[in-house]
Amino acid sequence: MITTVRILIVDDDPAAIEALEHALAGLGELCCATGGAQALALMADDPVDLVLLDANMPDLDGFATCHSIKQEYPDIPVIFVTAFGDEVHEVRALKAGAVDFVHKPIKPPVVRARVGVHLRLNALNAELRALSGRDALTGIANRRALDNQLVLEWRRAARQRQPLGLLMIDIDHFKRYNDYYGHVRGDDCLRQVAQVLAAMANRAGDLVARYGGEEFAVLLAGSNLEGAGTLAGKICAAVRALAIPHVHSAVAPYVTVSIGVASGVPAIDPTRQGANATSQSAANAAPVLQRVQVLLARADRALYAAKAAGRDRVCVEAPATAVES
Ligand code: GH3
Ligand code: MG
Ligand code: MG
Repeated sequence: MITTVRILIVDDDPAAIEALEHALAGLGELCCATGGAQALALMADDPVDLVLLDANMPDLDGFATCHSIKQEYPDIPVIFVTAFGDEVHEVRALKAGAVDFVHKPIKPPVVRARVGVHLRLNALNAELRALSGRDALTGIANRRALDNQLVLEWRRAARQRQPLGLLMIDIDHFKRYNDYYGHVRGDDCLRQVAQVLAAMANRAGDLVARYGGEEFAVLLAGSNLEGAGTLAGKICAAVRALAIPHVHSAVAPYVTVSIGVASGVPAIDPTRQGANATSQSAANAAPVLQRVQVLLARADRALYAAKAAGRDRVCVEAPATAVES
């Protein structure tokens, strides 16, 4: 599938915008902003693939704009285009997160070639990012992608005072399945279960991941215990309905799963109040991830209660523990 790239040109001088538009004609969809704040608003409305940024602008200068862009969209390449010719400004731009620096007056073929290189590199990076977040066997998200998404959704849930639901799902007696049917059939079973989960938790804000081995996690943004528990019940029934034979299961003649359900409204982290609300900065992720682990541990405890109660069932954690403080 060919998708058109979107390039944002930011400059307070309309003539400079026009010169860049001519230089980049045909490379993609071009849009422009005459100031840093306008550029950020435009990016929030509709994502872009690359930004060409003037350093010297009256409202928010290029360096501050670049800093904000990188906080919010760390993966979008920013190229500075400026009349500053000295190394101090060039280094400052690179330190602010720019990938490259071109001088005014621009040489159209050079700008065009540089933009082309960065678009290609960014497309490759995006492919690698996508692959690094996929589980090779099942094709669904892996643990790394789950951790990243948990941090983002945790912050969003804290800001919006919304609950975050989590299911931990484990295939029952899967060791016996492998021992009897072999690993090839075992792998096939994992793929089938993953497909059912992906089909059932497919709303925006849902993420289905392979947590490890025969264990899966489903993140449900906005779901309280009741909503998450209802979906868990449907998933349990849908896996049973696959009717994958499992003659050595002690629970049923088919493959079944046990599910633990947890949900909580994350408390707002006072150290982040006033900070950029949707920042994806990895530097801030570690403490959030630690707190997210608590939700994972609670879902895991509920899962083990489901196992202890006989498997092929859902166990929802006690409501009293469902609010983070
Ligand atoms: P329980 O009902 O208590 O969950 O028992 P179980 O046998 O499912 O759990 P246990 O943790 O003892 O065994 C998990 C098994 O999952 C062990 C291993 O053979 C299998 N497994 C883990 N990863 C894979 C995989 O990638 N492919 C296959 N085929 N099997 C896997
Ligand atoms: Mg198991
Ligand atoms: Mg297990």
